[in-house]
Amino acid sequence: MADIKENLEKLASLQRKISAYAHATALLYFDGNTGAPSKTTENRAISSSILSEELYRLQTSDETFALLEELDAHRDELPESERRQVYLILKELRETRCIPMDEYIALQKLLIESDSVWHEAKERSDFAMFLPYLEKIFEAYKKVAGYAAPDKDPYDYWLSRYEDGLNRETCDKFFSRLREGIVPLLARVMEASGGRVKGMEGYYPVSAQEKLSDYLMDVLLLDRGHCGISTTEHPYTINFGSHLDVRITTNYHENDFIPSMFSVIHEGGHALYETNIDDAYTRTAIDSGVSMGIHESQSRFYENIIARSKGFTSFLFPKLREIFPEALKDATEEDFYLACNTVVPGLIRIDADELTYCLHIMVRYELEKRIMAGELKVSELPSEWNRLYKEYLGVDVPDDKHGVLQDSHWANGNIGYFPSYALGSAYGAQLLSVMKKELDVDACTASGRLEPVNAWLKEHIWRHGSLIAPGELLRRACGEEFNPDYYVNYLSEKYSSVYGLK
Ligand code: ZN
Repeated sequence: MADIKENLEKLASLQRKISAYAHATALLYFDGNTGAPSKTTENRAISSSILSEELYRLQTSDETFALLEELDAHRDELPESERRQVYLILKELRETRCIPMDEYIALQKLLIESDSVWHEAKERSDFAMFLPYLEKIFEAYKKVAGYAAPDKDPYDYWLSRYEDGLNRETCDKFFSRLREGIVPLLARVMEASGGRVKGMEGYYPVSAQEKLSDYLMDVLLLDRGHCGISTTEHPYTINFGSHLDVRITTNYHENDFIPSMFSVIHEGGHALYETNIDDAYTRTAIDSGVSMGIHESQSRFYENIIARSKGFTSFLFPKLREIFPEALKDATEEDFYLACNTVVPGLIRIDADELTYCLHIMVRYELEKRIMAGELKVSELPSEWNRLYKEYLGVDVPDDKHGVLQDSHWANGNIGYFPSYALGSAYGAQLLSVMKKELDVDACTASGRLEPVNAWLKEHIWRHGSLIAPGELLRRACGEEFNPDYYVNYLSEKYSSVYGLK
């Protein structure tokens, strides 16, 4: 027993070190795309590669491995949180150790190169330039899956890396349910709208938009002592080695305040999840959200279910007129609600509305799955991409910049990541249906008083960090298995109401 106590202390110390490396690495990354001067990239790259090498050494050392194996052998005697920490670290470690060192290093190098080639290829809309890198990435990912999980289908392996337990069978069922719900609904919406787009373009000074960001963070009840906001080209949320230091970012456009408004609310949802993790888990392997799907369920819950609702837009509108008196002097509350909920099938995923968003994800899922199964060549990606965009969204893709080259995910090796965005949206709708049995959610959104909503999510999701696997977490919160019908019904009710469909 004394041995276990001693080993648990070593485990805590190991995790504190890992968190310190994560803190430093995240700060370097954050500095690189917030305030850093233009000629400092190389300096950061050197520090970053030394830190990641040291971290790799610490994590994969024989001493670390022996400690975790020893704790794992006594897992039934460990407290629940430590048992989970050992499980998560060991799983990662076993997978890393089965990849030959030279191949691991070659893959890291390939990913760094491919990211910069992708940037240039996207700029020039030149897929041929990116093709050899992407071919190598898909090949390497098949190989790594073969090392890490020889009995598993390679794509299933990568899907479950982002969402524990996820596989093609679940995704196929999920996406086909979405398709049969969304495609006919979209056709009816387009018929009713006649393709009209409602926007709020005008002049919205950055200084005023910054005031709106602060106000929104207050309405979301984000703890500003532990959560900061900055500006970057692409909005994101980052955790600096623990849930006690989280930053969100946004990007302001002076001709429209809506994109930044939704970025702040979306990233704010991620930050609520992170900052509300139980303090007992600070600087451990469970001190962050459990999966991409659960994380997106929180961000998209606040962005779509809360902030795009009729009640919340009415609540917010008077404040918007106070912040942007000139630009909004002739606008009505109804204009704002429609501007937040206009449906337009388009080319770009990150600009998509709530209804068509999952169709963008479906295209990517279909393509990844077929490439990993050897049914599609990487060189055939642009033509298949364009064909599926026409089939699912009815749009013609003019060039690869607005098509297959738009996302950075594949260039960065995030194969199997896309489905979690769609799953997150669907998890959120299921959580809403349970929450509504206990709370008057509409009254909370209409009054802008989100305490009860936050308290519910904190109790069922946030406080657990990564303690409970995503499928189990959702099952406990909802009292039943994941069911995409809730999402399809939510979309159908919402857009029937927005567009007056019978
Ligand atoms: Zn997100």
